[in-house]
Amino acid sequence: MKIKDVRTARLSIPLNPPLADSTHRLDRIDWILIGVVTDSGLAGHSCMLSFDYGPELLKGIVDYELKKVVIGMDPLLIGKVWEACWNQVEYIGQTGVAAWGISAIDICLWDILGKSLGSPVYKLLGACRESVPVYGSGGWLSYSVDQLLDEVTSYVKRGFKAVKIKVGSQNRSKDIARVKAVRDAIGGEVRLMVDANQSWSPHEAIAFSRAILDYDIAWLEEPISKDDVEGYARVASGTSIPIASGEREYSIRAFRELLERGTISIVQPDALRFGGISGCVKLIHLAEAYNAHVAPHFYKEIDIHLVTSARNGIFIEYFPWLDDLLVNPLKVESGMALAPSDPGMGLEFKPEAIREYKVG
Ligand SMILES: [Mg+2]
Repeated sequence: MKIKDVRTARLSIPLNPPLADSTHRLDRIDWILIGVVTDSGLAGHSCMLSFDYGPELLKGIVDYELKKVVIGMDPLLIGKVWEACWNQVEYIGQTGVAAWGISAIDICLWDILGKSLGSPVYKLLGACRESVPVYGSGGWLSYSVDQLLDEVTSYVKRGFKAVKIKVGSQNRSKDIARVKAVRDAIGGEVRLMVDANQSWSPHEAIAFSRAILDYDIAWLEEPISKDDVEGYARVASGTSIPIASGEREYSIRAFRELLERGTISIVQPDALRFGGISGCVKLIHLAEAYNAHVAPHFYKEIDIHLVTSARNGIFIEYFPWLDDLLVNPLKVESGMALAPSDPGMGLEFKPEAIREYKVG
């Protein structure tokens, strides 16, 4: 089998009203769709999520740099294609935009492998289970308290056993009040996580973590700048709340230092940044050696394959944004995501959704 073509498309969906965390404002959701077409008739699908941050750059790394590398290669030699892409971008840098492109192609190839064998990808990865807990995510700082409570209680009513909300607004007492209000609303049995999106100093993070100690927080996510390993060590030693991080990392070497120093208890690879399925599998195994858990960032449709096949996998994150766009959206029942039974990854977009939102 040979790769015959790589196709891309950009969809743009307005967010009205916009959403915000401590470091970003989101006015629209842009999906970059990637399709790897083979001479056998099989095609692999993946996507990138850019919001309004560089959608043309993300699309362009595939169109202008990686497509020419992979055409003619055997899509079932996934590691070989991955390496060829990695080597191609050495000069411009293997993190950032280039890593998004490598990840997207990798996920397409796992999709093709699954389809060629008639198997969902999680079984090819060594499945440990057929369902995993999901946590309801969102909890945006742009929400009023009423909107925040509406969202978390609607998750609980649907059977979710865990929710996550944003903090890090620079108004500590307001954030603490929101955490308390959510804990009061969801009761003591539902797990609650908080995410600061890198907005604090180590001192602020430690102070906040102590102020929310009574609310039984399952993890504190990205309390400080992702590059401040020394700061992470200070935060970890200053709080009893487990620290989670990793959604903005691009290489396994960055995680090695965080794990070696015992700074994080939960690794959160973002499959679209971290080398796709191939990159995340390496990290999951590394994390297991350090007794760290895995709760990947954001993409439940991809992460279901990773977490069902990881002994140390604990959660996938739930956002509903792909549910109306995919041919076969991921099934979630009573707070558990069910591994798909169809071959491949499960990331094919509906033709009508592409027609409605395509801008490029
Ligand atoms: Mg986060």
